[in-house]
Amino acid sequence: MHDIVVKAPDAVREIADRLEGAGHETWCVGGAVRDALLGRADVDWDLATAATPAEVKRLFPRTVPVGIEHGTIGVFGRDGRLHEVTTFRADVETDGRHAVVTFGVSLDEDLARRDFTINAMAWSPSRQELRDPFGGRADLEARRVRAVGEASRRMAEDRLRALRAIRFAARFDFAIDADTWRAIVNSAPSLTRLSVERVMQEWTKTLQQVRCPSRAFEQWRTSGALAVLVPRLSAVNPVCFEAVDHVPLPSSSSRPERAALRLVTRLALPFVTLGGREARAALTALRASNTDVAFAGAVADSWISGGPELERLAADDVPDGAALRRIASSIGRMRVPATLRVFAAIWAARRDRGVAAPTGPQVARLARRMLRIAFRDPIALSDLAVSGDELRTIGVKPGPLMGRILHDLLQRVLVDPAINTHDQLLAIAVQHVEEN
Ligand code: ATP
Ligand code: MG
Repeated sequence: MHDIVVKAPDAVREIADRLEGAGHETWCVGGAVRDALLGRADVDWDLATAATPAEVKRLFPRTVPVGIEHGTIGVFGRDGRLHEVTTFRADVETDGRHAVVTFGVSLDEDLARRDFTINAMAWSPSRQELRDPFGGRADLEARRVRAVGEASRRMAEDRLRALRAIRFAARFDFAIDADTWRAIVNSAPSLTRLSVERVMQEWTKTLQQVRCPSRAFEQWRTSGALAVLVPRLSAVNPVCFEAVDHVPLPSSSSRPERAALRLVTRLALPFVTLGGREARAALTALRASNTDVAFAGAVADSWISGGPELERLAADDVPDGAALRRIASSIGRMRVPATLRVFAAIWAARRDRGVAAPTGPQVARLARRMLRIAFRDPIALSDLAVSGDELRTIGVKPGPLMGRILHDLLQRVLVDPAINTHDQLLAIAVQHVEEN
């Protein structure tokens, strides 16, 4: 096993060396060791140590008590980052989510409380030694997620592990070990014990970390977790999950606004074909933020009202401008780009399945035209060449009649933008007044 070298950042090594220098055994543990062995860089390096939290605090000038009840102290490294240093601990009692912990145990006991073998390895930067009591490396090699110890017991201790297993498997494209999978399936009915926040956190981590989350969501379904946790999605067409695979990982964009847009697009996609009402209800039940619920609801409404027509229009060499303006107007100018991206992802997923959908070039052409229309043509009441104030000068009082007139003007302008001049619109308004 001397061939293995895990490259821990210098700042992390320094922290370990200082603790070891003071006589406290210290190891890098968890996700960073796993990711380093997979050849993936990780930013979060967690350390586990025999030192007590008080001893850790004494040894470093700048610390933060990030999780003192679990024995975790944040230590600022030379790199300016906060590194978590946790005293070796064991879980003495669990209730399906929370554990009572005890300190003063060995590294191996600390590794034994971890969820999966690939997460239960430790690396000593000072001794350049890997500790792997549960065969995590072999499982990495075999591309397998396997519980540490007896799977069914481990899932019962903490129900979140069922969802974590699915996430790790999808993230690394690993299989789930048969025993572990059985335990996940048996765990599903008990997932009601998880708080909505934890469920949403797992769902979101899946959207953030997994390039092709459809696999994870299908496993939520086949394990029975989906029916318990997000029942409205349990009968949704697989295409809705596969559509998420067509939106790039939020983290692969360096621009924060784009990353946020990708995330909300990924979040909305599985719910879109449910229609606005159900999409809003499902995401509200998951305690998604108000803006995320509003986004998904609006896109889902547009999918029902405009999706089929847009699909037909995409096939036309020159899609009818009036129809595109009407749809863009009902979507709302600022939402057009994001809505088109959602539709395009669903269409792409359909094509992958051999289901009829606009082709890639057709979608690109439609999007170009639609965006031009949305941002150049008059498609909103505020774009009209007359305002409510001007209608007042010809005797229209604010109220239902004014609303009807403005609505009619917009409908006509959507059909023919050329009539969006002050004089033409005012003439039409005068007609309305005379007819009333
Ligand atoms: P990520 O890249 O998603 O952060 P990670 O492996 O670092 O992956 P964390 O949730 O940050 O995962 O947890 C750090 C480590 O703590 C894990 O690698 C695992 O050893 C342990 N751990 C976390 N959650 C649990 C849990 N629910 N049950 C048992 N061990 C856990
Ligand atoms: Mg982590």
